[in-house]
Amino acid sequence: MRIILLGAPGAGKGTQGKLLADHLHVPKISTGDILRAAVHTGNELGQQVKAIMERGGLVPDPLMIQIIKERLQKEDCRHGFILDGFPRTVAQAEVLRQEDVAITHVIEIVVDDAEVLKRLSGRWTHPGSGRVYHQLYNPPRVAGLDDVTGEPLVQRPDDQEETIRKRLQVYRQQTEPLVAYYKKFTQENSAVHYVSVDGCQSIESIQQKIVAKVD
Ligand code: ADP
Ligand code: ADP
Repeated sequence: MRIILLGAPGAGKGTQGKLLADHLHVPKISTGDILRAAVHTGNELGQQVKAIMERGGLVPDPLMIQIIKERLQKEDCRHGFILDGFPRTVAQAEVLRQEDVAITHVIEIVVDDAEVLKRLSGRWTHPGSGRVYHQLYNPPRVAGLDDVTGEPLVQRPDDQEETIRKRLQVYRQQTEPLVAYYKKFTQENSAVHYVSVDGCQSIESIQQKIVAKVD
């Protein structure tokens, strides 16, 4: 199983990716999480990307391509993986093709902008595991704490209205063309399946629909 999750910021890629990764026993690779960890440690990569992420822009393709190539070479990817947040540009998608990464499913989660704003402004995450909560739609058992570890949850600096709007604009311009790209790609390659799900349903019913398609 080598799965790409496509969808606007806030569509539910992280939420569904984590559930699917646990179901399939493959790693969920979130390029956003990798970049945030680098910003947190303050290493060279982190210093390069911090300002771009805070503005809601995209990190340049050459850097992202280097990051994903290194990550996919790790042992835990041998039996599959779920990509959350990569590719985000046609150039990034082309690299997967050139490197012969045999994708099996592209799962698109569709939501509108108003829903994205509501979701991201209430999002809380557990940095250690990638678990995602929402203060109204998917609250943790104890406010501000992760259900599994009891560790504190954090809000992302780019989840503010102005930056969310910028990220949506970037998504429509640079990432949404991948919908047509992968629809065409899956029509030409019978081994690859395109799945489109309506993201405005409960987390559980979206999960069931995705699992039914990939099992
Ligand atoms: P993405 O990874 O696509 O940016 P997330 O999985 O982080 O999206 O979800 C964004 C926010 O929306 C989180 O706060 C999450 O708890 C919430 N959320 C995710 N899926 C749903 C859903 N189906 N209904 C309501 N809220 C959701
Ligand atoms: P979301 O879950 O809201 O879609 P992510 O956590 O995937 O956001 O990404 C957060 C930020 O990290 C993006 O706004 C962008 O600055 C950067 N980023 C993550 N993945 C990529 C990528 N594949 N290409 C370029 N920038 C990326």
